[in-house]
Amino acid sequence: MGDALQRLRAIIADVSALGTAEAILSWDQETYMPPGGAEARARHRAALARLRHELFTAPEVGELLEQLREREGTDPDPEDLDAQYIRRARIHYERSTKLPARLVQELAHATSLAKDAWRAARQASDFSQFAPHLERLVALTIEKAEHLGYREHIYDALLDLYEPGMKTAEVERVFAGLKERLVPLVQQVAEAPQVDDGFLKEHFDPQAQWDFGMDVLRAIGFDLHRGRQDQSAHPFTTSFSHGDVRITTRIFPNDWASGFFSTLHEAGHALHAQGIPAELYDTPLVWGKSLGISESQSRLWENVVGRSRGFWEFWLPRLVQRFPGPLAGVDLDRFYRAINRVERTFIRTDADELTYNLHIFVRFDLERLLVTRQLDVRDLPGAWNAKMQEYLGIVPRNDAEGVLQDIHWSMGAIGYFPTYTLGNVLSVQYYEQAVREHPEIPDEIRHGKFDTLRIWTNQRIHRWGAIFNAAELTQRVTGGPLDSGPYIRYLEEKYREIYRL
Ligand code: ZN
Repeated sequence: MGDALQRLRAIIADVSALGTAEAILSWDQETYMPPGGAEARARHRAALARLRHELFTAPEVGELLEQLREREGTDPDPEDLDAQYIRRARIHYERSTKLPARLVQELAHATSLAKDAWRAARQASDFSQFAPHLERLVALTIEKAEHLGYREHIYDALLDLYEPGMKTAEVERVFAGLKERLVPLVQQVAEAPQVDDGFLKEHFDPQAQWDFGMDVLRAIGFDLHRGRQDQSAHPFTTSFSHGDVRITTRIFPNDWASGFFSTLHEAGHALHAQGIPAELYDTPLVWGKSLGISESQSRLWENVVGRSRGFWEFWLPRLVQRFPGPLAGVDLDRFYRAINRVERTFIRTDADELTYNLHIFVRFDLERLLVTRQLDVRDLPGAWNAKMQEYLGIVPRNDAEGVLQDIHWSMGAIGYFPTYTLGNVLSVQYYEQAVREHPEIPDEIRHGKFDTLRIWTNQRIHRWGAIFNAAELTQRVTGGPLDSGPYIRYLEEKYREIYRL
């Protein structure tokens, strides 16, 4: 048995190394690769992906997992890392071998065509160019879900790929509570006098923006000996090992807040990645982490901490030093209200903290209708606009700012969107638990100190890698289930005060 585990570990170390090589190629493509490298890079990445898949789905891996069944047990102790290792390897092996090779190939082919078609369709703001591709992807996604299997709802099989163990009914329950309170709150805010954030759209020197972002990264504890920041068109985080975690940001001379809060968002993901113990890397114990848990860490730093008044008590004077021009005469109250301005807009990625979730409700509703064949792809633009009207009270003027705005569906990623809002909900549940255990945290934040909060998240959340799913971790950390209550109260208190409702 010891030999079987050793052999399994050797194979999986190679699988993981190939995955890391792919990730490095992908990071380079988004940051430094000249456009001329695209065609060859696509081939190189596909070759590594194929080798990784072949290595991991070889019959030998199945045989080793069979020999290790007894060692794994039925309900392994979370601290028994060998048993957890086998359990997670089995979950991924079964998932990888459940899908017929033909379906995997068809999906890869269809998504690569769909991504190009989506880009062209969005450019032309013409959904009809993308529709046949999306029809094909929906059909293949339904087939994929049938192969993966589910008990209650076909959407469960898809959700499980991004949010392990989560059920559609559970998301519906959490979202129903949110909708009931957030839709009217957004309506009330929209009718209140608007906050002025004009000074944030003045010119902010790009180099000074970068330098200020680096100051904050260092202060919150992003370890630059084990990480770095670069620039890319779409900010992201990727980790190659415990000792090498990369983030990217983008800087706009006339929109300081966009770049800064991207940096903080990715820094939250990066603290998570740097907090996962070295011995979990290159093992299935970090594969397929709950995206809701990951997003709880990025939203914690971006919004709960980064858009709080306390955070700026310390940082605003330092920001004013960097940008004395645009920020002359701006006091804490005016600044705090400006960075928390709420506006109903069409594009999800530009949305503020409050309206963001409403964009997710639109997508969650439509995805369930698509995979249950209750909505035809051809009718999607109309259905999209009706949902925008229902939740946000605004209707996009064209497909580009409506149904065509997100890349997710062109990648076949149906079931992904709900994890963003689950992350928002969890960010507040976890933060409130941290403050219950360490009431000094808010005061430390006011003084530019973040160690207590970072170490708490490290010990209670990061250290577990992918061992727990969102429900299990939340039970362990807070003693209760996923609960939208704290998040709703947080938003209501914050925005009633800002908009003087
Ligand atoms: Zn994120």
